[in-house]
Amino acid sequence: MNILKFGGTSMGDDQTWQRVINIIDGYAHPFVIVSATARTTRQLMAAAEYSLNDLESARDIAADIKQRHLTLVNNFLNNYPNAETAVAKECKLWINDRIDELNQQLTKINEAQELSLKTKDSVASIGERLSSYLFAHCGAVAGLPTTWVDAEQIIRTDSDFGQASPNIDLINQQKHLLIKEIENGRIPVMGGYYGQDQNGNTTTLGFEGSDYTASLIGATLAAESIEIWTDVSGIFTCDPRVIEDARPIPQLSFREATELAYFGAKVLHPATTKPASQQQIPIHVKNIFDPDAPGTRISHKPAENGRVKAMSFKENCTIITVSSSQTVMGYEFLASVFDILRWHHLPVDVVTTTEASVSIAIENSDRIEQAVEKLKSYGTVETYREQGIISLVGCSKNAGESLVKDVLSHINGTSPALISFSQSKGNLNVVMDKDYIIPSVKSIHQHFF
Ligand code: ADP
Ligand code: MG
Repeated sequence: MNILKFGGTSMGDDQTWQRVINIIDGYAHPFVIVSATARTTRQLMAAAEYSLNDLESARDIAADIKQRHLTLVNNFLNNYPNAETAVAKECKLWINDRIDELNQQLTKINEAQELSLKTKDSVASIGERLSSYLFAHCGAVAGLPTTWVDAEQIIRTDSDFGQASPNIDLINQQKHLLIKEIENGRIPVMGGYYGQDQNGNTTTLGFEGSDYTASLIGATLAAESIEIWTDVSGIFTCDPRVIEDARPIPQLSFREATELAYFGAKVLHPATTKPASQQQIPIHVKNIFDPDAPGTRISHKPAENGRVKAMSFKENCTIITVSSSQTVMGYEFLASVFDILRWHHLPVDVVTTTEASVSIAIENSDRIEQAVEKLKSYGTVETYREQGIISLVGCSKNAGESLVKDVLSHINGTSPALISFSQSKGNLNVVMDKDYIIPSVKSIHQHFF
């Protein structure tokens, strides 16, 4: 069994759908996970926001989503003149129902004048519900034994809306539903990104969550591999949209891939590697526009690759510095500070400490304000916004001192706000003013790669 995940670009139009179908056709036992069609999730979120004050604009977005999906399915089915009209009807009905559901949600948000994380998740999931159902039906027209699986039936999570954690035991309890389809010779097609909590509410697994779904399913079904099909030929030395001469990396360890994703490489959800690495299932990142390109293979196998393997960056961070009002018991102070971050679900990117203070770089989030208020009971709190992080991953063991020096000489004359370096983990993180991130990334990449 191979888990094949196709992202938003791959779901973009009838031509990419045809590519995806050809790729699926090349596997003996595929299981397909799809994202929403390109732009849809962003449009859904915009509609939800608009609906608070401007229901008409929100409805216009809903109408646009509807039209795009109707057009996509029509264009696809036009290539199959013998397709039964029943399929076109079913697809149209599904689109109408999902958009009606969306409009009801938008009205509710407007009436309640409140957009909760719970409602956001339910709205966001409509993108994957549309793409997965429609693709499963169109796949069948193209001759594949595809069958739709509702992710709510399988992906069970906690109720942390917006970034829910999967409940592996409950997911395993649902796997018989998948096995039944597979044993009947079917190719399951399931939407990524969303699931359901124990109270029957829709949840989502966070940004890029479809990758995570693919890995969860891979682990549950003990798949041979998890294939992340996207619009670039693997994981590159740096984001190819920013660095023109970035190049694909043939091999990465699970840990290196996780670090890259965690520190901003948008090609993978950072948690994707976890279920896969626990079960030693390799992940391949491949390009639907160049399916024969080798892509990137992520596995336990360590691979040498010069001084540094890859770099990533973020431009949306805040530094919080807490200076303790009491200088005794440093560990109590640190424990209290981190406890507050845990309480607010704020993952830490970079930390440095002095005897009586701690500085923490965190990705921007609505939750920072509340955390800062709480932190004030432990000392003076300063926040520095508009920060970014550059991360170098897979630094060679013997590159240490010269590497740090070299990186710092390529940050375009700014001074770093925080630095953390782990020789054993081969990781270097430098936090600096956001405006310096892109020029520094370019200059570091040119020097090291
Ligand atoms: P999908 O819709 O298939 O999930 P994404 O847009 O989420 O696709 O991820 C692919 C994109 O990630 C690429 O087009 C690329 O611009 C971006 N990206 C950022 N960092 C990297 C990197 N290090 N390697 C490859 N792609 C990257
Ligand atoms: Mg993605």
